[in-house]
Formats: sequence, C-alpha cells, structure tokens
Amino acid sequence: MDNILKISADVDSFVDSCENELKEEFNRIDDICEVNSAKVISAFIKNKVSEVHLGGTTGYGYNDIGRDVIEDVFSSIFKSEDSLVRGQFVSGTHALTVALFAMLRPGDTMLSITGKPYDTLEEVIGIKDNASSLKSYGINYKEIELLNNSFDYEKIKKILKNEKIKLIEIQRSRGYSTRESIGIDSLANVIKEIREVDKEVIIMIDNCYCEFVSEREPIEVGADIVVGSLIKNLGGGIAPTGGYISGKKNLISLCADRLNSPGLGKEVGSTLGINRYILQGLFLSPNVVANSLKIAVLSSYVFDKKGYKVNPKHDDRRVDIVQSIEFKNPDELINFCRGIQNASPIDSYVTLEPWDMPGYNNKVIMASGSFIQGSSIELSCDAPIRKPYIAYLQGGLTYEYGKIGIKMALENISRK
Ligand SMILES: *Cc1c(COP(=O)(O)O)cnc(C)c1O
Repeated sequence: MDNILKISADVDSFVDSCENELKEEFNRIDDICEVNSAKVISAFIKNKVSEVHLGGTTGYGYNDIGRDVIEDVFSSIFKSEDSLVRGQFVSGTHALTVALFAMLRPGDTMLSITGKPYDTLEEVIGIKDNASSLKSYGINYKEIELLNNSFDYEKIKKILKNEKIKLIEIQRSRGYSTRESIGIDSLANVIKEIREVDKEVIIMIDNCYCEFVSEREPIEVGADIVVGSLIKNLGGGIAPTGGYISGKKNLISLCADRLNSPGLGKEVGSTLGINRYILQGLFLSPNVVANSLKIAVLSSYVFDKKGYKVNPKHDDRRVDIVQSIEFKNPDELINFCRGIQNASPIDSYVTLEPWDMPGYNNKVIMASGSFIQGSSIELSCDAPIRKPYIAYLQGGLTYEYGKIGIKMALENISRK
C-alpha cells in the first residue's frame, strides 16, 4: 500500500479479513442491482432515449425534449403517471418543500406517521419558527411516533377516522435519529391499512437514500407521490444538482405550477446542458447504490468487530444506504469523519471542524470530499455533535474507494 495513505498493516489485513466474510451479503446486493439495472435499461429502451435528448435549452426552456424524456424515464422506473425531474430543485429539502406547498392549502392538516421529520423540514413545516413556514400560511401539522420501530396503526386509524387529514408524510430513511428505516413491505402494509379508513388522503413518501436499495419503489405499493434528491442515489454521482417528484398526474401538475408558475407548469425550465448528466447518472445509479451498500455493509462489520454499536448490522436487510456507527466520545467521532475526509479525492488535506450548519439544531461535522458539493451518494459522513455520538456514513461511487476510506477512518481512530 502506498504510504501516502498511512494505513498500517494491522488495519489493512483486518479490513481485508472482514471483507472475506461478507460474500453472502455482497451476492444479495448484486442480485438487487441486476433487478434495478433491468428496470433502468428497460426505461431507456421503452422511451427511446436518443442522442438528441442529451442536449439542453436556455431561457424559458420551451420544447426541451431531453427534459421531457428524462421525466418519462423516471415515470417508467417508478411506475407512476408523471414526474417532475428538475435541476431547479436545489436539494431534496427543496423538492419536499415544493411538494408540500403545492398540495396543502390554508386550514389543511398534514400528518407525519414516522415521528419527527428530517431536521431541515422543521422550518419548512413550522415546528421551528420561520416566517415562511407552512404554519405561517395556516397549515396544521401533526405527528405520530413510531411504536417499537413499526407504525402505530391504532393511532393512525383513530386520527383518520376522527379528523380530515389532507396529506400523510412517510419518511423512509431515519435521518439523524436512532429509529429503524421503513422497508418496502412495511410501507405496503401501512398504506393498505390507511386506505381501509381513508381513500382520499394524499400519501407522500420522502424516499431520500432509499432508491434502488430494494426491488420495488413506493408507488408500486400504493403511495401517491414520492420525492427525492438527485445528489443522492438516483443522480449516480453524475447529476450536478436537482431533485425529483414522481406520482399521480394531478399532483405533479400542482408541483410543477408551484415550482415554476401557475399556468406555466411543466412546460418551462431550461436545462442548461445537464440532461446528459442526469441520464448518465441515472444509468449508473443501480451500480453506484450497490457499491454504497457494500461499503455500508463492510463498515458495519468492521466497526461491529471493533466493539462499536452499529445500525444496521452487516447481515440486516437494508432499506437505505446509510450506516450509523456509534462512538464512545466526540473525539472518536470527529477523528472518524476526518479519516473519511482525508481519504476523499477532493479536499483530502482539509482538517474538518464541527460547524453551525443552516437548518440543523446542533453543531454538525461533515466529511464530503466530493466532486458535487454536498453530494452524499459520494463517500461522505456526517454527524451532529450530540449524544449518542453517531456518525452517519453513506455513499461511495466505487466499492474500492469506500474500502480505502474505511481503512483510513479506522486507522485515524486507532492511532489517536
Ligand atoms: C437528505 C435527506 C433529505 C433532504 O436533504 P437535502 O440535503 O436537502 O437533499 C430529506 N429527508 C431525508 C430522509 C434525507 O435523507
């Protein structure tokens, strides 16, 4: 091993020996990757993606056939009626914001049935004060906690029977919490139960980090609308920015009018040359997600064997690409993140410090030496500096770079 990486022989052989014991898990990941690859290539073939779609538009962006075909390809993959896939979405948070503001009206109530939503949505909803929140428009918010890591069916049914709920939000990935993520089977089950009492409530899924981890996506099990980021799974590390919303045609139309302008809808929005990258990133995505999963499984096993609490365990069925590792103190946590940063292709020489990131409640440390700023489908790691000291590791465009990152992070906490 080149000594620039400063990986000791001990760490090197320890991680290699862990890898040797993960054949079964890796095979399962490869099988899912093949299913999702078939899904993607079928969508490209069905929609006759062609050289002419790789160009882009400027200005208003009328007649952008590349943008249109991308949205058709997304609809084929998600088995949805329509999609909005745009570089104008700044991030996943923005896509979720647009979707919520598009579908809710003053006096409406939204209900989260997976407890407190992702940190950046607190100001969007108005859980934390903001003069532009949904709450400031008179939109109400309620939440039901998970019960023993499953849905609280009794409470959900009771609230749906007793009051008018306009929209239910289900966040699959656990974000910065210690709950379990929501698998596709349990999603299918809760949607079935919801529909027994309420045929109309809009069921919206925050699908961030979950795309292509399983063989099915939320619309296939009855969700109305699904939302995510293009600098996570579906961007494949190539899409330079953006987000997506996919689902019922009437809902996508509301979202397009909200993102752009009422009346302009999906017809506008110039793509400035990013169509090629969105398509290429999507094409690579099943494999990139598989690599990320293998990196997550390897890190889980390595740190489990070193005595740290990990979630999920290496042999658990995974729902998203995120691996959490609990450290014993803030120093270990920070050194782990620094190791990941030092193993990155971009800004490897930076010494990370925790900082007050907008939208988050605690100081956060983020390792993200990525080609696309903040891209968390690239090997990255973030952690709020609060008890329990959990690092959330995710991404990795190729398995080998991820494996090197794990070695450097382990080395960095072992040496200190
Ligand atoms: C990443 C993420 C989001 C959106 O975050 P952005 O950084 O704005 O893209 C929302 N929900 C969950 C569960 C996420 O993981």
